[in-house]
Amino acid sequence: MAGDATQLVEQVDEVSLRFMVDRERNKVLYVEAGKDFVDTLFSFLIFPLGTIARLAAKESNIDAVKFGSLSSLYESVSDLGEEHLWNKTCKEMLLKPRVPMGLYYRKLKFNIDESEPLRYYHCEDKTCKIENRYCVSFFRNQKCICRKLLNQESFVNSLKGIEESGFVKETSTFIVSDDLCVLANEVGTSLNLCQKHGVNDIDTIDKRTVNISKKEACFLSMYIVYVIDILKLSLVSKTPLTDFIYKKEQFVGNLDPRNRSEFWIREVDESSDEINDKMVVKVLRRKSNEQILFLEAQDDFIDFVFSFLTFPLGGVLHMLQGFSLLSCIDNLYKSMIELSSDGCIISENLKEKLTKPPIPMQFELRNQILPIDTKYKDYYTQYKFIDPKSPISGGYVKGPITFIVTDDMVVTPLSSIAVVSYLERMKVAFNDVEERVIRIGRKEGLSILKASLTTTSTLTNSLSLLWSNSRMNKGPSLSIQEHSLQEQWST
Ligand SMILES: [Zn+2]
Repeated sequence: MAGDATQLVEQVDEVSLRFMVDRERNKVLYVEAGKDFVDTLFSFLIFPLGTIARLAAKESNIDAVKFGSLSSLYESVSDLGEEHLWNKTCKEMLLKPRVPMGLYYRKLKFNIDESEPLRYYHCEDKTCKIENRYCVSFFRNQKCICRKLLNQESFVNSLKGIEESGFVKETSTFIVSDDLCVLANEVGTSLNLCQKHGVNDIDTIDKRTVNISKKEACFLSMYIVYVIDILKLSLVSKTPLTDFIYKKEQFVGNLDPRNRSEFWIREVDESSDEINDKMVVKVLRRKSNEQILFLEAQDDFIDFVFSFLTFPLGGVLHMLQGFSLLSCIDNLYKSMIELSSDGCIISENLKEKLTKPPIPMQFELRNQILPIDTKYKDYYTQYKFIDPKSPISGGYVKGPITFIVTDDMVVTPLSSIAVVSYLERMKVAFNDVEERVIRIGRKEGLSILKASLTTTSTLTNSLSLLWSNSRMNKGPSLSIQEHSLQEQWST
């Protein structure tokens, strides 16, 4: 049986890693790893949140996991009728957002999101130009400004390419801790980790060789770690390697319960213009336990939350200054910042890109309130990219339409029947509900994004403090106005 397993292992693309484990306490102390594994871990930083939600829902050695509220947000887009989105391309963009820095990513040994080579489409009329630039799009069969189709395919590889493969130097070796800190393999690093775990007796340490593979469940074995297993565990566990090796099953929800204030963003760089430009939503809260049940919003807010799916994880970490509360991902991000570009990372430029990967071109919202990076290579300047999104709002959703967004970010078009049946399902008495109007700016938006990464009570965690602060402060800076529910419902 073991022989059969080995044969199968050899057929798949795999790398052997040496795990150092504490035999007495069944715990992984650290892993010795080279370029392939470390590049794979760092590639998580360029995955858009929608891609992570999609991969987390796949089966592998471990069951599907829920990625905060982003899994239900992703499913909402998937279930949303096409009539509510600007066109088919918008749905495709949200469900299969593009990985930025794709040319680096496609060269990795373990590129678990096997996207197709990046191609773009010229106008049927090859002479079609606007502002002296050729009209193109990354999405096939979109309408050009001249009303013809953008259907003439070209590959981006033909543009000025990149020579480097992956992110870290070929010759470097690394120590990866159980909570995904990536450290240069220097004398003392492994010793420090053993000491940190309270291991003083070398006899209690065992070496175990574990193969890592990109295949998803061609067969299940505890001796093969699939990259997707590690990605999933890094979202729900503080000790993903131990959880995997020792098959701990209680890792779902392993993250500590959070105090709501941890989701609160205190300081943001918000210009006065942006303050005037806040989105207005109507929030309904259950009085008895202060849970925010849902909010009612227009297409501007829905475009805003849908755009989360297109944000690369590293770009989110950059906006949250490295504190996402996904502790393993925070460690990975911090490692990338701290590793030296002389010894470990291919170049300073690449390190800069990985610590704030931009949202891919054509995915940016015209009215994005969050400071997500949208810098692109200047080799695109000869082209005029035709926006597949709405020419009116610059977003994905076809407005005007009112939606409801539940605490765990399920988004559906508003209907009074849906609201009543939701309240019934949640066993909420009508007289136990209060309503307010809240204005969402950059600070509140960032707080919603942060909460959506780790919790299924995104609105309660991100907006509750705003709600209660409004009672204490009666100044003109209030962003909440109280309304009586009965009054609203009777009109
Ligand atoms: Zn054209």
